[in-house]
Amino acid sequence: MEKDIKTILGECGFGFKKQLGQNFITDKNLLASIVTAAGVGADDTVLEIGCGAGTLTRELASRVKKVTAFEVDKSLQPVLCRTLSGLDNTEVVFRDFLKVDLKEFEKHTEGYFVVANLPYYVTTPLIMKLIEDAEKCLGLCVMVQEEVALRLCAKAATPDYGAITAMIALRARCEIVKRVPRTLFYPRPNVDSAVVKFTFGNGVEVADRAAYKKVVHAAFSSRRKTLENNLVNVYGISRERAAAVLEECGIPPKARGETLTPAQFALLSEKFK
Ligand code: SAM
Repeated sequence: MEKDIKTILGECGFGFKKQLGQNFITDKNLLASIVTAAGVGADDTVLEIGCGAGTLTRELASRVKKVTAFEVDKSLQPVLCRTLSGLDNTEVVFRDFLKVDLKEFEKHTEGYFVVANLPYYVTTPLIMKLIEDAEKCLGLCVMVQEEVALRLCAKAATPDYGAITAMIALRARCEIVKRVPRTLFYPRPNVDSAVVKFTFGNGVEVADRAAYKKVVHAAFSSRRKTLENNLVNVYGISRERAAAVLEECGIPPKARGETLTPAQFALLSEKFK
């Protein structure tokens, strides 16, 4: 890249859009450490969501076989033309990735890793999309707000544990691999971030994913209510039936949804197939 990123953004007259979570990474060591944490190498294909000014894209492109980057903001095109110039293994698609049909996308790609620095509002829908629909995703390594990272990796019966955590357990295990201070972004956001790595292929065993999803959403539909109450409301069953199902699964009658492990959700989902 011929100049530093702030100069290029200025010269292109780029205006940051806060609503799109545009806080770009400028720190070279951080860029390198994200790619290393993702565990991707020379034979790998990477999907990047939200390439911004292309700093992570460029670092990825120097270390993997191919990068396909999605970016919703077309006004970044002149910036990316400069920051990604000279790369022949990188394609930028100007589209909202949340509107992309993942099954269609996967028809045209081999197994791929997702690596991204995600805006807040995209995190949960993107992760759900991958958990529910991806068949060729080999791994996921994302930078998210620290508070969100804690939720994604939370253990059962802790305050951060929620439906998204239990849904991730269907397909993957995840861990925080790096905390990242706000000072390493431009412009500087109001919160710190963390890099979360998901390892696919070692999720909890379930016979029916739709039944699992429904039971998880039922359990968290009202955190102030007991699991029994939530089951009654969501499934329209009697209190006696809900109590009997919980007993059959060895779950205490007054348990709350957030105390159940993914394995217990799997067991419960068997009863509601
Ligand atoms: N990857 C760059 C980096 O690390 O410096 C940019 C990260 S910035 C936090 C997030 C980027 O995602 C922004 O450029 C924003 O325009 C883009 N974005 C937001 N929502 C998107 C969506 N639904 N699909 C694709 N890109 C999106």
